[in-house]
Amino acid sequence: RFITFEGIDGAGKTTQIERLAGWLEEQGRRVVCTREPGGTRIGDAVRAVLLNPEHTEMTARTEVLLYAASRAQLVDQIIRPAIEDGAVVLCDRFVDASVAYQGAGLRIGEQAVREVNTFALGNLMPDLTLWFDIDWAQASERLLARRGAGRLDRIEQRGRDFFDRVANAFRVLQTTEPRRIQRIDARRDVETIQQEIRRIVWNHINN
Ligand code: C5P
Ligand code: MG
Repeated sequence: RFITFEGIDGAGKTTQIERLAGWLEEQGRRVVCTREPGGTRIGDAVRAVLLNPEHTEMTARTEVLLYAASRAQLVDQIIRPAIEDGAVVLCDRFVDASVAYQGAGLRIGEQAVREVNTFALGNLMPDLTLWFDIDWAQASERLLARRGAGRLDRIEQRGRDFFDRVANAFRVLQTTEPRRIQRIDARRDVETIQQEIRRIVWNHINN
């Protein structure tokens, strides 16, 4: 089973994944929890390049390719082996993030992002994706409260218009693939969201 978590920065994905992983393990499931960009030694090096606020000269095409490179390494080194091993794989962001952030956010276009990622993924897609739906105002409020304005990464520093395009792209993806992508109302409190996620994931892995 391969489950991914998507949504704009500040939506609360990471908190929920950590709690979900702990709970699944308590239920006796083998869980592999990972994230991107990163999740491998090479991916983490790529992540540092991608998120460095000093890298203002990075072009959109390079950005697409670096996310895809981190993803390819993660797929080959961690995700595929874990799936073959029968684990439940939980991944904080995956290819939908590239369609939304680079395709719509950076205006690279969905088609180009998909082409690059077809090679990076080699046919692997999540069988369930939880999309954390929240608007930019609330998400950025959380992000600033948690991190402070001076500590945002290169992507998080992009403004409201960028994130509105990203959020809208996630919405479109969900309507196009309603069976794979489930919407989670991420404005609610942590506990309520966690209960809903446990129910959805439990049903999914037992069916
Ligand atoms: O999930 P996390 O916040 O750790 O992601 C790191 C950064 O990478 C975020 O700022 C996110 O917006 C960005 N990102 C991106 N395109 C992707 C995946 C992540 O811009 N495809
Ligand atoms: Mg972030």
